Amino acid sequence: MARPFREKMRRFVFIGLVLGVGVTGALARQTPQAQVPGITEPAERRTTDIHLPADSLVIEGTIPPGRTLGAMFADHDVADADRLAVVDAVASVFDVRKLHAGQPFLLDRLFDGRVRTFTYGIDDDRLLHVQADAAHVFHAEVQAIPKDTEVTAVHGDISRETPSLTQSLDAAGERLDLALQMAEIFSGELDFSSELQPGDGYRLVVERHTRDGEVVGYGDILAAEFVASGRAIRAIRYATEGGKPAYYDEDGRSLKRFFLKSPLKFEPRITSRFASARKHPILNYTRAHNGVDYAAPPGAPVAAVAPGTVTLAGWTGGGGRTVRVRHQNGYESEYLHLSAIGVRVGERISQGDVVGKVGSTGLATGPHLHYGLRKNGRYVNPVIEHRNMPPGEPIPAAELQAYTLVRSRLFELFSLPATRAAN
Ligand SMILES: [Zn+2]
Repeated sequence: MARPFREKMRRFVFIGLVLGVGVTGALARQTPQAQVPGITEPAERRTTDIHLPADSLVIEGTIPPGRTLGAMFADHDVADADRLAVVDAVASVFDVRKLHAGQPFLLDRLFDGRVRTFTYGIDDDRLLHVQADAAHVFHAEVQAIPKDTEVTAVHGDISRETPSLTQSLDAAGERLDLALQMAEIFSGELDFSSELQPGDGYRLVVERHTRDGEVVGYGDILAAEFVASGRAIRAIRYATEGGKPAYYDEDGRSLKRFFLKSPLKFEPRITSRFASARKHPILNYTRAHNGVDYAAPPGAPVAAVAPGTVTLAGWTGGGGRTVRVRHQNGYESEYLHLSAIGVRVGERISQGDVVGKVGSTGLATGPHLHYGLRKNGRYVNPVIEHRNMPPGEPIPAAELQAYTLVRSRLFELFSLPATRAAN
């Protein structure tokens, strides 16, 4: 979904206008005839502002790869003293090493080489803005780009045209982040990669962040309903007394299971099943496969399937970089072939904590995750073991009435007219 460069910059300038970060004045001072490459056309304010004489150039562009801020300023004929002063001002509020190639900037430079303002788009939510005061001293700050938040209903269908959750969300004008949030809520109940079929559908009540009518992200999903093969699964976000918010079904049972459905987000494809004996693809002899292999891109985060204590975090011959976690009830999970490890032995971790990243270390034909589960020291089939786990903790009886009220209120919001975002 690459946005054309010019449009992206327009939006960036527009954000500057909205924030009043000094871009307004910069645009006003620009001559409309200026056609030097890399210089803005005075897009929005031309008709009222052309009478002002130009005394500066507004240079807009994106951070070039492998270029420091100082070097980039030199490329744009910034005076030596200002080069250092602006970089110093930036460094006081922002780690200049985190400057990303491809991110937009706007430089308002006087014809004598001095800088008036420098604005850099850190990400979708923040701007870095540097401004010279009357004494030509630079002041830098990181500014939040304002966004609107509304609670809204999102409806979607799984059809022949939109057979997957991501395609369906795309067709509804929503961002794909929402698919990950849904997958997380329903991970113990539904396999979004294989169980969906035409006729299935969903309704969400979600906090949606927009800017200029465009969706820029989401807060929490407050309620969700998924109808798969005629079976409706509903989730309500609720925080019990003194507890963290979690998702519960209509009867107030936690949707969180003892185990996650898999250590990878977005239920991945199993490429090799648990087996008591099979031919090893590299060693070429037959032996048991003590877990399941999941296809996964290198670097994908690997999550602990349940809370526990790390018992191993290091190299194990054929397993390459390996993490083992001990859980309650005699269970121990293990994650093999990792490219990186994110935990230490003895560390206590929660369900869903990232223990490492997918890799192909040790005996592996390519990047994948080998996930193994032991019960009382013996390897068991994790897929079957996960499926047989009892449902999660219920809402305490004393809070059921309060829960029922929240549930009814949220269910009413399902029937809000589904708003389609502009994109
Ligand atoms: Zn394996």
